[in-house]
Amino acid sequence: MKKLIFASIIALLAGLCVQAARPKIVAHRGYWNTEGSAQNSIRALVKADSIGADLVEFDVWMTADDVLVLHHDAEAGTFVIPDTTYAAISQIKLANGEHIPTLDEYLDVAKDLNIGLAFEIKWHWRKEREDLCVKKCVDMINEKGLADRTLYITFSPNAHEQLGLHGVPHYFLTGKSPKELVEMGSDGPDFHYDVFYKNTDFIPEFKRLGMPINVWTVSTPEITQYFIDQDVDYITTDTPELAIKLLKETPDHKDVRVMDFNLEGAESFDAAAAVIRAEHPDFVTLQGVKQSPDLNRLAEIAGMYIYYEANGKDGVAVMSRLTPTDVKSLTLPNQFRNTPCKAIVCTYDLGNAIKVNVASASMSDENDVTRDHQAEFITRYLRDAGIPAVLGAGLNDKPKSKSWETMRGRFSELSPDGVTFPAPVPDRKIDYLLSYPAEKVEKRCSYVRPSAASFHMPVVADITVKY
Ligand code: MG
Repeated sequence: MKKLIFASIIALLAGLCVQAARPKIVAHRGYWNTEGSAQNSIRALVKADSIGADLVEFDVWMTADDVLVLHHDAEAGTFVIPDTTYAAISQIKLANGEHIPTLDEYLDVAKDLNIGLAFEIKWHWRKEREDLCVKKCVDMINEKGLADRTLYITFSPNAHEQLGLHGVPHYFLTGKSPKELVEMGSDGPDFHYDVFYKNTDFIPEFKRLGMPINVWTVSTPEITQYFIDQDVDYITTDTPELAIKLLKETPDHKDVRVMDFNLEGAESFDAAAAVIRAEHPDFVTLQGVKQSPDLNRLAEIAGMYIYYEANGKDGVAVMSRLTPTDVKSLTLPNQFRNTPCKAIVCTYDLGNAIKVNVASASMSDENDVTRDHQAEFITRYLRDAGIPAVLGAGLNDKPKSKSWETMRGRFSELSPDGVTFPAPVPDRKIDYLLSYPAEKVEKRCSYVRPSAASFHMPVVADITVKY
């Protein structure tokens, strides 16, 4: 694969602002940083629910007489909770005047709310006491019918292991590598944000492993936005109202313009480049591209990056204003040894965790069976990639053929009804822009751009790519 030069400064794509709710917001120790509230209080639980936090985080200890209570530190007043009976602990008042709640009291209130529970089991230093604490916590959640709303977190390796034995969702709070967390049998990380800052490979690796990512304790606008943009699963925060506001303000879609242009018969790239430039597309899928040093010039005039893949007679390319995060070349099936056919797939990060694959493919014009297999191959590849896709395709085929039906069945069509070939007086439609899936890529408008720069007229579509 050959990366060719480019001309323009990276242009940020325009985005509109609508509602978004991607990472779940976890109110750390409840919503306590507000009047009349206190950490790990009933009031903080109700407040967190009232502002629309997705989950409430709270800390649970077991007293010397086996009562489960909420408190952050082991010390409460002059007592050490695991060494003290509940009768003594219950006399201690929180900052808002409530007594230290028992888990039973807390969950009875939570039952009538909508909020999820991020249940931290504290590190009890005697294993048999900790094992009993874990069992009693899990039993109480189950008895109160809250299992579907609860995930467990802990710093204690033993409690983490016990939670695994109980078969409940459990996340580890101390920074470990993805490999170590897998070996621990954990469901995922719940790490301090600094761990992710220092190990930038952790988030992509946990995502690859399918492990939900929780981060704590994120309370400034800058750090909160960073983890919204990283598209983690849970953000644990002391400022839940701020996090909810930032989420709402984070765009969940991007508007972009795509063009498909087959350059077959183009005598010079200059004329094609001028056509492209005039339309200001964000992405261009090209087919019928002869390899030439002039490709550099095409990119320069268009003001875009270009990624090219040679085919048998000619090549396919993707041009873009953004640099892709990944470029893949696909060799399409060719069981009858016809002229080789390739596709090129460029992956882009449009910002705010919105991604898109832009692909260009030119399929066999020699063999119907080969073309059918190629259509199957490229559609499966883009579908399995799991992110929205746009495909510019020279189908070399007529509508209602099997390969077209394959494409049609898996993709939505972005291209307009107009004919595109042969330019300048076309009588048929053989150039297509397709997308997948329908709910993630929406066509706003499309048109055929009159042009005599090649044998094909380009098609242009304004689309919205959604998170
Ligand atoms: Mg905690």
